[in-house]
Amino acid sequence: MEKNKSTKNLTLDPENWPAIRQLGHQMIDDLFDYWENIRDEKIWKPIPDSVKQHLEQSIPEVGQSPEEVYREFREFIFPYNKGNVHPRFFAWIQGTGTPLGVLADLLASGMNPNVAIGEHSAMYVDRQVVNWCKELMNFPADASGILVSGGSMANITALTVARNSFQNENIRKKGLKAASAQLVLYCSVETHSCVQKAAEIIGLGTEAVRKIEVNERYEMLIDRLDSQIQADLAAGLLPFCIVGTSGTVNTGAIDPMDELLVVSKKYGMWFHVDGAYGALAKLDVKYASRLKAIEQADSLAFDLHKWLYVPYEVGCTLIRDADKHRESFAITPNYLLQEKRGLSGGLDSINNYGFELSRGFKALKIWMSLKEHGREKYAQMIAQNNRQAEYLAELVESHPDLELMAPVSMSITCFRMIKPGHSEDQLLDLNREILLRLQEEGIASPSSTILNGKYTLRVANVNQRTRMEDMDLLIREVLRIGREVEI
Ligand SMILES: *Cc1c(COP(=O)(O)O)cnc(C)c1O
Repeated sequence: MEKNKSTKNLTLDPENWPAIRQLGHQMIDDLFDYWENIRDEKIWKPIPDSVKQHLEQSIPEVGQSPEEVYREFREFIFPYNKGNVHPRFFAWIQGTGTPLGVLADLLASGMNPNVAIGEHSAMYVDRQVVNWCKELMNFPADASGILVSGGSMANITALTVARNSFQNENIRKKGLKAASAQLVLYCSVETHSCVQKAAEIIGLGTEAVRKIEVNERYEMLIDRLDSQIQADLAAGLLPFCIVGTSGTVNTGAIDPMDELLVVSKKYGMWFHVDGAYGALAKLDVKYASRLKAIEQADSLAFDLHKWLYVPYEVGCTLIRDADKHRESFAITPNYLLQEKRGLSGGLDSINNYGFELSRGFKALKIWMSLKEHGREKYAQMIAQNNRQAEYLAELVESHPDLELMAPVSMSITCFRMIKPGHSEDQLLDLNREILLRLQEEGIASPSSTILNGKYTLRVANVNQRTRMEDMDLLIREVLRIGREVEI
């Protein structure tokens, strides 16, 4: 005992507090410089081999000073960022983040609570944010919800509840063998791949996912859905869940929510909405009525790191029937007992509503952001992105060398450059080259997709820094590069 007591106490805290405080201030200053000047910076830079080599070194055996570590960050990591903080980032569907959102993450990380159980402020902030999410989506106050890492987790969380709630079969306890036949899930060919993955993980299997055809606006065809359900019923299968998408990744298409709701009621099926990207388009009056029916869904998944512009990562699952939600996940091992008082008192464990136990304080960035701007400002921002997409489409349609490749829905515009006499293969090469040069020259970052077999540039805009003039610039540069390219 005595011998141990005399050994030196180790800690990971700094030896020199003033020095790390100064370094912290420096980091904050560098970040603010970065954000303030981002518009004038290149959106993306190729990563030199020397940098990649530096990031392949094996684990350090001994430490170095924080200043030295930060210097390496500045040299090898910071300059080669993805670019979604930049006003002309339009690839995939990726949010920008905001300064206060980042600072909130810093505070959350500094407090470092594990937001799963216990009587502490973060639990109440988390609950309030989930309640705000219900208000945003017009879900009933007695619905339940959980913040998760993103849309993929939000979808699998909801689909797990859908499966476990199927006809009181006690699937949670007995597994899928409790069902008398194969459970079948319906979505469209445009549905995000995470829905298929979720169906595989919750034991349904790929073959139990029916991908229904879409119309020319990429929206699920209701008569096809209905006849597929009929056929599956006739074959003795168990149709149990319909997944509608509010804003598909490819083109921002919206499945016909009212009709999906009717079909799900007709067959007594669970109605889930994947609104990872576009549920929040509800806030734009133009889309409010078309998205009204998602308020009636049994479950809804949506991302806050996309169209609420908060920093990564956070998504949300809402479940209409709170009991079904809890019954799907609640479990109380001896080491997670709740007490009446003290630190282990307080609210119901969040672990009773999802798979993850340890959770960070991701609610804080949403709480601070919604307080900073208010719902009204977000409605304007989302509408602004939608108008920018429409404006881009106008520019495309007014130019003879450009072709709009899909109707604009929400904030996604798909288009390509065309040249007289070019074959489809040549147009593919031309547009791919345009895309790559836009990125490599650091001008803008659209991404690409294939629509009806044709390669197309895809501009998806959940960017709070984009201005109308960025769309003019984008078109100018597409045309310039397109004319320079020899195909
Ligand atoms: C982004 C997206 C997802 C996946 O969400 P993550 O946050 O990336 O996990 C699922 N569905 C749709 C429609 C999406 O746009």
